[in-house]
Amino acid sequence: MKKIKVLIIGDGVTAYYFLWVLSHSVKTVQLDVIWISSNRVFPRVDPNIWPLITLNGIQEGINALGDNLYSSFQKFEDVQMQFPFAKKVNQYCIVDEQDQKSFGKFMRRHGKSYNLELNNNVFKGTSLNSYFVKPFEFFKSVESSIKKHSLISIKTINKLVVGLEETKSRYRVKFSCGEFMDTSNLFVFSGIGSKFLSTNFLHYSKTHRHQVSKGSVFQIKFKLSKDLPFVLTSDKDNIIYDGRGIIQTNLSPDSRNSFLYSSFRTIYGDLFDGRDFQKYFGLRDKGKKRLPLVSVENEPERFMASISGLYKNAWTIGLREVIDIANIWMRRV
Ligand SMILES: Cc1cc2nc3c(=O)[nH]c(=O)nc-3n(C[C@H](O)[C@H](O)[C@H](O)COP(=O)(O)OP(=O)(O)OC[C@H]3O[C@@H](n4cnc5c(N)ncnc54)[C@H](O)[C@@H]3O)c2cc1C
Repeated sequence: MKKIKVLIIGDGVTAYYFLWVLSHSVKTVQLDVIWISSNRVFPRVDPNIWPLITLNGIQEGINALGDNLYSSFQKFEDVQMQFPFAKKVNQYCIVDEQDQKSFGKFMRRHGKSYNLELNNNVFKGTSLNSYFVKPFEFFKSVESSIKKHSLISIKTINKLVVGLEETKSRYRVKFSCGEFMDTSNLFVFSGIGSKFLSTNFLHYSKTHRHQVSKGSVFQIKFKLSKDLPFVLTSDKDNIIYDGRGIIQTNLSPDSRNSFLYSSFRTIYGDLFDGRDFQKYFGLRDKGKKRLPLVSVENEPERFMASISGLYKNAWTIGLREVIDIANIWMRRV
């Protein structure tokens, strides 16, 4: 059987998505994967943070990002039908109809509003089907399917990559310790490290502009009598209930009088009665106009692909990009 050596840089969601796709599609070749990351220098986004995969506020035909998110969401749903790994939830988007500015914005975004009954309380709003993921659980399931896969072997390396070079027929990955590795199959999913790598990799710097953006969420233990997960949303702020006694929100506790927190209080109870708000944060790589930064170099002798700049949308856009890249690559191996 043909043996192929593959180098993957990054152990965030993009790399896990790629390994997940490989675990489903590798059937006729033997893959030896070298998996490189350096979380001390470039920490991946904290896997305690649950991403929300939603079409809230997204429409087709307005701009490139909206179109991308729309089609990526469809792809995400297709994947969930076949290989579910996310929790499907009702997302209740509510609006304060007394606040004319917010209500006008809501109507422009959603086109209509109707009465939503939540625990015997009526709100103006709309509801959608969305998804959220607990990354640690997903990462563990990917690791275990790879371990069980008879054709894929993985070696993890914790080293800082300081340079990517092109040799005549291969790529050279250079480490801070002075060592290097050559490969003809390179996958770079390096999140906020991409900006640093781009200064050392001409191929990147031609097209890629990166910006680092910090984001945080809070998680609170809060058991509701119902065990169905759901999301309560006002504008861009969400409160996710996981159905197992934990709540996550992106809204700072300083906004305790906001419409979202007050509404939650009315419907389900007070999140602020002496509870700990556990904060998690991450650094995100933001591409120009929030669009992903994708490169593919598909040459007879060598193959290189990179995805970065995923900002707030790695779980939606990242999945589609990874599947596209894996399809191109699988055709040649
Ligand atoms: C608060 C918050 C909320 C979010 N909510 C959502 C959401 O609702 N939906 C959604 O889709 N996304 C969301 N995101 C964004 C999403 O989490 C990120 O876009 C995603 O995690 C990026 O994944 P990545 O694999 O591309 O990069 P990262 O997670 O940043 O991982 C990069 C990896 O590359 C490695 N690396 C980088 N440079 C080097 C180097 N030079 N040498 C060796 N290794 C290197 C790092 O060690 C790391 O392992 C959120 C993010 C935050 C912070």
